[in-house]
Amino acid sequence: MRGKKKERLYIDASSLTVTQHKPTWGERLLKLSGYLLTAALFFGLALLVSYYFLEGPKERRIRRDLYESAVQYRYLDRRLDQLTEVLEDLQQRDRNLYRIIFDAEPPHQTKELYRDYSHYTDNALGQIISETSYKADALASAIYAQSVSLDSIYTMAKTKEERLQHMPAILPINKNEGRVVSGFGPRYHPIFKNLRPHTGIDITAARGVPIYATGDGVVEKAGANMKGFTGYGVCCVVDHGFGYKTLYAHMDKLMVRQGMKVKRGTQLGTVGTSGYATGPHLHYEVHVNGKQVNPVYYFFIGISPEEYLEILEKSREINQSLS
Ligand SMILES: [Zn+2]
Repeated sequence: MRGKKKERLYIDASSLTVTQHKPTWGERLLKLSGYLLTAALFFGLALLVSYYFLEGPKERRIRRDLYESAVQYRYLDRRLDQLTEVLEDLQQRDRNLYRIIFDAEPPHQTKELYRDYSHYTDNALGQIISETSYKADALASAIYAQSVSLDSIYTMAKTKEERLQHMPAILPINKNEGRVVSGFGPRYHPIFKNLRPHTGIDITAARGVPIYATGDGVVEKAGANMKGFTGYGVCCVVDHGFGYKTLYAHMDKLMVRQGMKVKRGTQLGTVGTSGYATGPHLHYEVHVNGKQVNPVYYFFIGISPEEYLEILEKSREINQSLS
């Protein structure tokens, strides 16, 4: 048997005898594949072990990158916290601006975000990313709300500015050239000699002294002895918008036409005695939403407190108007 092909012994389990049996090709192939399978299994296991427990240079680099990313994220997270605080400060000031200056309620903040960040949270870095992402989104939403609020403040400020520019706010005659001599309310009419409601104030001035528009607006009516303006002679009405109108009567010369746009300070004409007037003067009226009001309450600009008090005193005297 020596030198010959190696022979194998086989045990037949049913008869409990040892037999010599030359394995067939099929059996050999089966055995080989069994070895290969076992080898592959071990190799795979070894690979798995090295994958989980051993670390190559590439893994070390990845691990370092991850660590640096986490540090970066924590830094970002702190920055977001700081920015959120700054924004909260701005929101508080904004709310005060609304309440105090504009006497309005601040707009409602946009709703909280309900985005799902759970897909980030399967590891430590994911947790930080999830928190940072949430803060960034919340901040973006708050900034958006703030910008909407600022837009609204800007619009309000602009409308107020326009409103102030249109409101009758100056004396219609230069304060050095005219003097308020008769005020608003019941006054003795110079021609009818009885107590009649005086719907404006009278400012005496020399003939030819310029009369100015007291706020921005459009000339609604202008002419001499117009229908519905009996006794006013040469007269003009300026529509200022926002419910304000002003009337200028007894003019000598008219310098504007109906439909003309005027600015505060645009010359409308000159002082005269047209209509029912006992002497050269301007009869000036302020109308708010169709109702005549005391023009004295609308002298805001270009007048000192002392001068204002003097006008107020004079306008309170129940004297004779110049009509
Ligand atoms: Zn008058």
